[in-house]
This record gives sequence, C-alpha cells and structure tokens, in this order.
Amino acid sequence: MRGVCVKDMTWKEAEARMKEARAVILPLGSTEQHGYHMTVDTDNIVATHVAKLLAERTDCVVLPTLPYGQVWSAKDFPATISLREKTYIELIKDIVISLEKKCCRNVILFSGHWGNVAPCKIAARELLDECGYENVYYFSYMDLKKNGEGIMETELWNGSGFHAAEIETSILLHIHPEGVNMEKAVCDYPPIPSDADIRPIPWIKFAESGIFGDATKATAEKGKQFLDNWMNQMCALITENIRYR
Ligand SMILES: [Zn+2]
Repeated sequence: MRGVCVKDMTWKEAEARMKEARAVILPLGSTEQHGYHMTVDTDNIVATHVAKLLAERTDCVVLPTLPYGQVWSAKDFPATISLREKTYIELIKDIVISLEKKCCRNVILFSGHWGNVAPCKIAARELLDECGYENVYYFSYMDLKKNGEGIMETELWNGSGFHAAEIETSILLHIHPEGVNMEKAVCDYPPIPSDADIRPIPWIKFAESGIFGDATKATAEKGKQFLDNWMNQMCALITENIRYR
C-alpha cells in the first residue's frame, strides 16, 4: 500500500503523495480529562487511529495529530489544556494555508474531540471568505444514535451528549485497550443546570467524575461495531463529495 502518514515520508515523498492523494487529513485531538478510567490522551488516540484508517480507505494522506484543542467546558479539570477559540481558529488557518502552498488538493479537518468542531467550522468559513479556499472539510463524531443503534445500551447524557462514556470507552477498548482501566469506570449523569444553555458554565461546577454517561457498559466489541458504522459513513461522505482536482 502507498504510504499514508506524512510523518514517515521525506519532503520529496510527501510532495508527491500530497499532489496525487484525494485529500490531506489533519487529525485534531485534545489533552482533556476523560474520567477516572481513561487518560487525557484519549482524543488524540482516537483522532490518530481513525484518521489513518480513513486515509487508507479513501486514498488520502494523514498529517501528525494536533494534540491540543478547544476544551473550554472541561478546562478546570487538572491536566486539561484548552486553547482559546480564536487561537485555535488561527492555528487551523495557518496549517491549511501552509498545506495549500504545498499543492495539496483538499483538506479534511478530522476531530476526535467534539469541542473542536465549532472553531473548525469558523476557520473553514474564514478560509473561504478571506482566501477563496472552498475545499476545507471538517467532521468528527456523527449520528451517535444511528451509528450506535442495536450496539450501545445506555442513554446519551441530556439526550445527545456524551463524554468518556459507553461509546468513547468502547472505541478505546477496541483500538487501544491499554489506555483504559475498566475497574475505575463509573456511571455518571450529572444533572444539567437549567440555565446551561443561556450562559457559559464550566463542567467542574456541576460534574464530578468528568464522565457524562455510563462507562461501565463499554466493551471492545461494541467499539468495533460502532467504529465500523462510523467509518462506513465517513468513507461514503468522502468518496461521494471530495473529488480529485
Ligand atoms: Zn474524548
């Protein structure tokens, strides 16, 4: 198979692959608390692993993972590092502008951390408005209910949220079991403050473990099945929409 990881290439090899590949994927992670049972590297592990699988299946190449992100909600937990949104937007824009100059055709911002998606969207819009780039895509976890149907047993937090719970823990058990200690997994559905949607409230004010959902029901098999569904969805999106240019 042709190489997919830019970090393992010389600049000449990378130049050739970036020119011919469908897209260059930038994996976006975070350094963020993931409960008592998973490390702060969790989102980086997912972003790196999934981006590489995507690249292999859709003829893309993948850059080194950016290990810091926008983590405002969890920023007060120890060992959680958050970039300000404007810092993160400028960082993403600089990377994309740099990539374009190296002749890459399309750019995919793939995030293993949900909080990165909003600033990625703003960065992509500004790149379009200011520089004319129309080929910057962004995605992350998607369709949790559909992709987890018949697989995940527990409710999402507050109807649609999750963090370090059944889905994410299951994926880690499947792709990187050494990063999980199930003996420390807990079920925790912190009650959401009634004004949480109308003012900023850091998680530390109302959450204890840092888990939002039930991590105790996670298994590697569930992680494999969810990841298969999610991958199929993303691969279809990429091959249908992202054209060689
Ligand atoms: Zn995470």
